[in-house]
Amino acid sequence: MADKSYNPFLAAQAQFDRIADLLELDAATRDLLRMPLREYHFSIPVRMDDGRVKVFRGYRVHHNDARGPGKGGVRFHPLETIDTVRALAMWMSWKCALVDIPLGGSKGGVVCDPHHLSARELEGICRGWVRQIARNLGPTLDVPAPDVMTSPQHMLWMLDEFEVIRGEHYPGFVTGKPLNAGGSQGRTEATGFGVIFTVREAMKELNLRAEETTASVQGFGNVAQHAIQLYQQMGGRVRCVSSWNQAAKAAFSYARPEGIDLRELRAAANRFGDIDADAARKLGYEVLPGEAWIEQEVDLLIPAALENQITAATVQRISPRVKLIAEGANGPTTAEADTILNARGIFVIPDFLANAGGVTCSYFEQVQSNTNYYWTLAEVLGKLDVQMTAAYAAVSELARRRNLTMRDAAHVIAIGRVAQACRDRGWA
Ligand code: NAD
Repeated sequence: MADKSYNPFLAAQAQFDRIADLLELDAATRDLLRMPLREYHFSIPVRMDDGRVKVFRGYRVHHNDARGPGKGGVRFHPLETIDTVRALAMWMSWKCALVDIPLGGSKGGVVCDPHHLSARELEGICRGWVRQIARNLGPTLDVPAPDVMTSPQHMLWMLDEFEVIRGEHYPGFVTGKPLNAGGSQGRTEATGFGVIFTVREAMKELNLRAEETTASVQGFGNVAQHAIQLYQQMGGRVRCVSSWNQAAKAAFSYARPEGIDLRELRAAANRFGDIDADAARKLGYEVLPGEAWIEQEVDLLIPAALENQITAATVQRISPRVKLIAEGANGPTTAEADTILNARGIFVIPDFLANAGGVTCSYFEQVQSNTNYYWTLAEVLGKLDVQMTAAYAAVSELARRRNLTMRDAAHVIAIGRVAQACRDRGWA
């Protein structure tokens, strides 16, 4: 979002056009899928703590719902734009189709900076956002979820407002709810564990044994910590992690050749997943510059922090030892760097496959909330493994059969499924 020349929606459309050519889609299907089906732009008046009313800009975009009700997060960000929301809604359509869950793609946003808002003001924005589009939301229409700078608490305020408007309970109206208010077991672990389910499958293809491999991870938040947990349980050794340091306003990498200790680093991190550099140093970690995670001599890289991290500039620093990259974050690799990774023969598990465990578990939460019957953690994680492994197998089979990259194969499957649903309904 910092690069003002980058328009994510134009990038998403260009990516779509390339895959549409591979799929030889007809003109009507292309016209339908390159644009959102519908979008809502609205103003949210909120009485602030100082007594004045401030008006915030809100959005919700339904990219496509041919495969089922829309699904997608609501982002609170000062630089939110309608084009960011459009791109992310389109990517949600592809992600849901790829893991074959019966949901469409949506995204929402509010232009605001939560760092400068009180809890009461944030509650006002959440309730106001729902009031503006309540008639276009619901378990059978479109289901919001937490995303950048929104949390389970925000989802509960949204749920409560919706239920007040409708005068009935609708636990399936949002996902990402706290566990004691209709949330699902396993949601916290789902994305990071899902990353490692796909790593496990890729390692089988690459003839790697997890216990003989090492990894380096960018990020130490929700996705990274759970990915590290499961990878270590499989016997892998994580040699380096990086995280943001608010005091220094810079990222650092923390390396230890014999492997990091997840529990002690967790104790040295705050709730945002930012590791305290002094505490890490005392624990025997070498503290390196933020980008050092990418140049470690390891077998596996897991970018699990931010977008645009593996770029034409940084890709050259990746060690020849690296065989596999699992994209935990959304969009961590630029198109230019992706071409270089392919030329170097590094196997990349693309973001919308690797990190689809989150939305898959959100779907499980919808199912549980709509039926008001809740599953155990083991059931949730077992079903998640089945769904992710099947998605991985389909992508890998197509990649080999048509000599495509994993990223292109994943897009061909996902866009092909959405296009088919549109044709089946007579929309194209
Ligand atoms: P999080 O906020 O829990 O953690 C982010 C981590 O990144 C923190 O450890 C932070 O210190 C670190 N970080 C920030 N800037 C950094 C920098 N410049 N260098 C190194 N580390 C830096 O976030 P999360 O939920 O773990 O999400 C991480 C990524 O995964 C995001 O791209 C997100 O969109 C994506 N994702 C998350 C989920 C999910 O379920 N949480 C699902 C799909 C995709």
